[in-house]
Amino acid sequence: MGKAWPAAKRGKARAAAQSRVTARRPAAAPSALKKPAAADQLGAPKNVPYVRHGAPTKRIRHAQATWARSLKDFVNTPAKTIINKLTRDKILPDWKGATCPYCGEGTLGPLKHYADSNGGWAYRCNSKECKRRVLPHAFHPIFKCGTGQSHVSLADQASVLFCSIAKCSQTSVRFLLQKNHKLTESIYESLHAVRAKSVVQHEKNIKFGADLPWADVEADEVDIAKGEDPNTDAATDKPVIWEQWGGMVQRGDQKSLVLFKLDPAKTKRRAPGPGPIRKRDWKPLAYKWVHQRNIILHTDGARSYKLKLEGVKHDWVVHAKKRVMVKGKWVWIKPKFTKITHHDVPDDSKPNKTKRIIDRIWGELRKHLGNKKTANTKALTNKIRSYQWLYWHRGEDLWLATGKMLEEAFLKEHCQ
Ligand SMILES: [Zn+2]
Repeated sequence: MGKAWPAAKRGKARAAAQSRVTARRPAAAPSALKKPAAADQLGAPKNVPYVRHGAPTKRIRHAQATWARSLKDFVNTPAKTIINKLTRDKILPDWKGATCPYCGEGTLGPLKHYADSNGGWAYRCNSKECKRRVLPHAFHPIFKCGTGQSHVSLADQASVLFCSIAKCSQTSVRFLLQKNHKLTESIYESLHAVRAKSVVQHEKNIKFGADLPWADVEADEVDIAKGEDPNTDAATDKPVIWEQWGGMVQRGDQKSLVLFKLDPAKTKRRAPGPGPIRKRDWKPLAYKWVHQRNIILHTDGARSYKLKLEGVKHDWVVHAKKRVMVKGKWVWIKPKFTKITHHDVPDDSKPNKTKRIIDRIWGELRKHLGNKKTANTKALTNKIRSYQWLYWHRGEDLWLATGKMLEEAFLKEHCQ
């Protein structure tokens, strides 16, 4: 652009010109001119990034994310195309060549269309005595093969599954697809159950601090639901049971989130909560997950976490005015938003302020669970585990991640 006019001294033209100048300036220039921070000159602790190892916590840009499939793939599409797509995405297994699940002897042929009364697409067993047909979604952990009145097309089931993976509420799915609540409920609950199973299986392999000189691990607990214990007699003054879960996560590794159900004491009706994690609950967990693993453990001020462990340095901080049970009495702890701690770790980096990933996790978990929850139920446990699965896979194509999970489940069931 030529400089035809002298620079404007005031008004919009000047503002625009200035913003253009700022935008064009190379990004590195300002920081190069900046004086070094006072702390550096004095030899004070360096400003260590919050996540020292692994991947820094990413902001998930939902607006930019796309998945391999969309709902359009399942609407007004021929059955064969849908089966092909679902098989390619591993949502359905490829039965061709698999051992017949009915007789256990024959081998299944390719997918074929049968035009008789109970026709449709199926894989047929080659054993002369059996010859049974296996539907593509037979024995599926999420889809159902009902007949007659309970029959729902695979297209409809796949659509509901897609919506549930995309985190639509069950109510919106009923409006979107005009399906009854039985179908949505069954698919949503099965999805939670499959995720729960997969999470419990994979959780065993998590190792905090593996390959790192010192890893930052956060631990905390959360109260999720409460209810009256149906088995207590009327005379007791502590009839309230609580659903309390604990969690641990290593900073920089979203796939390291570990959750465990705790067994808190029963309380009076109006108690604000069951109190923090108990020492007898924490001790076995601490030995299992962090003992001798070179870990800086970040927790709140609960006393149980003060357990002395080899290879663990403890760092605690109080974030909000909080009530803690001390010797049977509720005591308020004042918040200390940042607490400067120095750990003499072999690594020269020293963390000097603490914010917490795990508090964000609890917030998201509460949102995921919604308002309707009953303490001590399988359904609630599954839903909590389902959130854990979502956390492990955040930022991924959840449709394909579900396919991978279902493939694993299928191989475990049928290809031992
Ligand atoms: Zn067979």
